Amino acid sequence: MGSGFITEDFDAAQWENIEPYAHDLLNRELNCSGCLETLIKDCSTLAEHISEAGTLLSIAMTCDTESEAKRQAYLDFIENAQPKLSEFGDAFNRRLADHPAVGDLPPRYDLMIKCIRTDIETFREENIPLQIEEAKLETEHSTITGAMTVEFEGEEKTFPQMALYFESTDRSIREAAWRAVVERMSQDTERLSEIYDKLIRIRHQIAVNAGFDDYRSYIFEAKHRYDYSMEDCLEFHDSIERVCVPMMHEIQGLRREALRVATLRPWDVSEKSGGGVDIHGRPPLRPFEDVEGLITGCSNVFHDMSPELGGMFDMLRERESLDLESRKGKAPGGYQANLEKTRIPFIFMNAAGTHDNLSTMLHEAGHAFHSCYSSDLELIGERNPPLEFAEVASMSMELMSHPQWSVFYSDEEARRAKLDDLEKIVCFLPWMATIDAFQHWVYANPEHTREDRSEHWLELRRRFGPKTDWSGFEELKETSWQGQLHLFQVPFYYIEYGIAQLGALQMWHYHRRDAADGLARYARAMRLGNTKPLPELFRAAGLDLGFDEEHVASLIGELSEAMAEIRA
Ligand SMILES: [Zn+2]
Repeated sequence: MGSGFITEDFDAAQWENIEPYAHDLLNRELNCSGCLETLIKDCSTLAEHISEAGTLLSIAMTCDTESEAKRQAYLDFIENAQPKLSEFGDAFNRRLADHPAVGDLPPRYDLMIKCIRTDIETFREENIPLQIEEAKLETEHSTITGAMTVEFEGEEKTFPQMALYFESTDRSIREAAWRAVVERMSQDTERLSEIYDKLIRIRHQIAVNAGFDDYRSYIFEAKHRYDYSMEDCLEFHDSIERVCVPMMHEIQGLRREALRVATLRPWDVSEKSGGGVDIHGRPPLRPFEDVEGLITGCSNVFHDMSPELGGMFDMLRERESLDLESRKGKAPGGYQANLEKTRIPFIFMNAAGTHDNLSTMLHEAGHAFHSCYSSDLELIGERNPPLEFAEVASMSMELMSHPQWSVFYSDEEARRAKLDDLEKIVCFLPWMATIDAFQHWVYANPEHTREDRSEHWLELRRRFGPKTDWSGFEELKETSWQGQLHLFQVPFYYIEYGIAQLGALQMWHYHRRDAADGLARYARAMRLGNTKPLPELFRAAGLDLGFDEEHVASLIGELSEAMAEIRA
């Protein structure tokens, strides 16, 4: 963009096309003032091309997991280009960090240089083949889970489509749907356990090679977690156990009473989200009929919040940057990806008409707005904020859009949807703590057996989990962690949701008091992209970064008040 370093479009998924530019960056003479800044700028331009090429391949694969050609193209990139890129990245980092003029760079580059020094410390050439092996196993996990469908009511259904039945007011339908799903999952339990065993071994070896005791200490460095420690995470788990778990039991006690059942079974409440069938026996919320209705409705929501947000959302639609409907062969879940060269965000999800789908859409739109607000920042590294803050953008957008939900709902339905979502925040935090605590244990004890793992999982479920009755499904309960994609695909990416949720609650509390002020705080912080350390990003919006019980209790207390207001 503008530097003249790369003037043409080229296929940046192929190493032979990248190599001449990489060679130049590693070998050009650097003896003028300002040379380093030009070097950084040019490297960023090259990284934009490569990132976009890789992202497009990954999008193509997740939109069509049945295509051998698309999977192969992505794997080629992972196997052929990625190792060379890792080596190049390390050589470039060293060239920059070791240059005598690096200390003269303006403060703008401080955070970047700090991260580069960490990357140099954690880089080991012998880890490259291990990382390829890891990426291949992750791809296999995607393929296995993408292929999971069930025959239900005479039709082949994807898992996201099955989610509709978990909200059925007919308990026998919920049970049948749940059984169909877990039966299908259990066909792959053994293979998924094998994949996880291998991933743990590989990740532990990567950490040891890089000079760390275990993968936990490695990943905290590799993820640039400068602003909170392992102990902070453990304190956060404790705070959640004391503040949220009792409240979750209360919410689920009400559910059990309202449903007039002796015990809650796994088909009465989601162990992950705390959601499920409506406790007053009302039919499931159906905010939209089809993807077109979802898009038009969201456009109205955002325009009503502010013309700026509305304009950003319409741009996504006009640029055909949305793949939203659920279909067979599409990877599960939802995500937002940045196309770094064109600087247009892409949103992927599996919409089947549920309220959860609407929440996902609002969430991913928040990520997309974050990209739009920071798209003017010059360097690729300046535009990609840490996940602990990226999720503030998305989670607070779910909450701040509450007043506009009348676009999709009657007053009564909107009240119900908001209450459900707030309850889910209380119930999700314990699940987050479960997943994070599980990973701490898994990687602190890499020699564990599958039996140990099951036992520890069950122990965490007793500590943080709902009082759901799994009788008859004990074996399944031991491996229910397998439904959590992050454990396979993005290890240790989970506490971020908890940290960000606390940030999002604070943003929402500002917005409830004064909507314009809330949105101004939002925009101000999002425009910073990744140019400031995490605590400063929080501070830019007036948010506190904390893990202690008092902080959690005060935010959840305000949330309870909001729930009482909605009920009144
Ligand atoms: Zn997100």
